[in-house]
Amino acid sequence: MSQPTAFSGSLFMVVAPSGAGKSTLVNALLAQEPAIKLSISTTTRAPRPGETHGKEYYFTNAEDFVARAQAGEFLEWAEVHGNYYGTSRIMVEQQMQTGTDILLEIDWQGARQVKKQFPQAAGIFILPPSIDALEERLNKRATDAPHVITRRLLAAGGEIAHAPEFEYVIINQDFSVALSELSAIVRAARCRFAQQAARNASLFAQLGIHAE
Ligand code: 5GP
Repeated sequence: MSQPTAFSGSLFMVVAPSGAGKSTLVNALLAQEPAIKLSISTTTRAPRPGETHGKEYYFTNAEDFVARAQAGEFLEWAEVHGNYYGTSRIMVEQQMQTGTDILLEIDWQGARQVKKQFPQAAGIFILPPSIDALEERLNKRATDAPHVITRRLLAAGGEIAHAPEFEYVIINQDFSVALSELSAIVRAARCRFAQQAARNASLFAQLGIHAE
């Protein structure tokens, strides 16, 4: 991983407090851009009703998670809302080597760890239009118990405090505007010099373009 610019795939990190509408936005982006691969994280959180192992997450227990973290299996991992969450290192590295764009839906702690290893990763922070809207969205999500909702609302402030660490910010007021902004960021990242040069190596050679 010493020459990150050789990867033609782009790495996106989408971060938001619970209730900012991140998953809905990401799912709509993936429907528009099927070439982007969503990294499926491993977590010790219990599955919510309707969630399946291998689809939303790989669910496991704390003992197994910690052993895998110690073995270096995770590109990044963090404790979020009392559970562990981690991103598979091998999955991300393999996909990026083959030129696939990868999207990570992670928290700010994980984003920091990824940025250290992949400085070119695009960090995108999704903000709710107001604190009231955030609370309303969390309450509407009937899948979480009231104490879980309270915990997530309290944590939202902590997560939002890290927005300045991100390159891009999207305010999710109007869904279609937010989606088109997310899509614009993805397209712009694909046009970065390093990505274009890696994807079009023979054209760049023909035109005599060499990286600085
Ligand atoms: P949820 O339990 O609502 O699915 O996710 C809770 C939080 O954990 C969200 O902020 C989500 O982005 C974050 N998260 C999910 N997967 C990962 C991961 O692999 N690594 C890190 N650091 N955070 C994650």
